Amino acid sequence: MNFEVTVMSNCAIVGINWGDEGKGRMVDYFADQFEVVVRYQGGNNAGHTVINEYGKNALNLMPSGIFRKETLNLLGTRVVINPQHITGEMNKLRAKGVVITPENLKISDRATMVLPCHPAQDIWEETRLGKNSYGSTRRGISPVYGDRYMKKAIQMGDLKHPESLEKHLRMLIDFKNEIIVKGYGAEPVSYDETLAWIHEFGDPLIPYLCDAGDLLEQAQKDGKSIMFEAQLGALRDIAYGIYPFSSSSSPLAAYAPVGCGLPSIKVNEVIGVTKAYSTCVGEGPFVGELDGQAAVDLREAGGEYGAATGRPRRVAWMDIPATAYGTKLQGATALALTKMDVLSYLDEIPVCVAYKMGDKVLDRFPYTPDLYDCECVYETLPGWKCDISGCRKYEDLPKAARDYVEFIEARVGCPIKYVSVGAEREALIIR
Ligand code: GDP
Ligand code: MG
Repeated sequence: MNFEVTVMSNCAIVGINWGDEGKGRMVDYFADQFEVVVRYQGGNNAGHTVINEYGKNALNLMPSGIFRKETLNLLGTRVVINPQHITGEMNKLRAKGVVITPENLKISDRATMVLPCHPAQDIWEETRLGKNSYGSTRRGISPVYGDRYMKKAIQMGDLKHPESLEKHLRMLIDFKNEIIVKGYGAEPVSYDETLAWIHEFGDPLIPYLCDAGDLLEQAQKDGKSIMFEAQLGALRDIAYGIYPFSSSSSPLAAYAPVGCGLPSIKVNEVIGVTKAYSTCVGEGPFVGELDGQAAVDLREAGGEYGAATGRPRRVAWMDIPATAYGTKLQGATALALTKMDVLSYLDEIPVCVAYKMGDKVLDRFPYTPDLYDCECVYETLPGWKCDISGCRKYEDLPKAARDYVEFIEARVGCPIKYVSVGAEREALIIR
């Protein structure tokens, strides 16, 4: 047996903040340098926008390596998959000429299946919560993760085991109807209809199923490099984020081994993606949130509307306390600063350098409820007031833009190796 397994650089591309930092764009850029791209958490609540020779595509479930012909894409073990949704996504991409086959797309047989009752429950719950809602994408992600932990959920691999599928589905539907009928007073979910739906949308996915652990182990033995693609950002982590305004999974790089399918795998590098300013979709504390004209101007300049939902994103200036916390949670070895070009309209650019609670300036990101009592301490940097979207070398950037990058780098304490100046694949500066 050959124990000399070459450890190629396995790299995680992760979000540092509240999500939508431009992870999809970064994964697409680097995917041709990796033989495997794997999504390790979350579901079709993600929206990763990728602009390349196939046009503009917002990916929900599909790993952003799907556009690279030599790259194998894997939906890992801790991902939740809605078969109808992934089918629709595959069809849309194929219509644009993207090749998707069981050769370049694999689905972990242990991944969890999202059924129609999950988005339904998500909507009932958000409606019940009224003004206290979590701002869910209403795609059933938290109900299905809940079911997984209650040991009621269906695994994708059950598609190949009809007896097990039917038994588990029966148990799930009985359990759901307790909640749906007695709790929400809604019509019961039909076992037969759900089973028919599973066969319609799930069965065609059978050729894509795999043992993700075997696949990744073999990839390691073959010396292949693996990229882990996170969805959302560190501040949405189910435990370390702004709970309960978090996701239901862990978008942290440390979770990638567990979520991908091979818990013993090593992540060698972590690229943390952070925006040159801040945005947040959904509810929860967002200390530096802008309102009025400043918010409108920044939102419009950045086109800040959710890729998955179209919802207007909440906006704020660069938030150092949140970014430093996210960088620490992710164990980022480098940062990618995206959307620098968006700030080009500003005469001067405020940066939140600390949080203040009353008279006290905090030296750390606080426990969630305290965030409501925090306000930002700002420093203001000069703007550069010119189009930087054509810059491809760091030296090409005006001094004020470089100063902005270096200011953030020093305050966050992590090297900014990549600066993105446009949404297109090539609009990236590597320092
Ligand atoms: P993700 O969820 O982290 O993959 O990010 P999203 O795709 O939801 O949001 C990022 C948005 O910014 C998308 O519309 C991208 O096309 C766009 N984008 C990414 N990087 C840049 C950049 O450097 N400049 C500009 N102008 N847009 C960018
Ligand atoms: Mg997004």
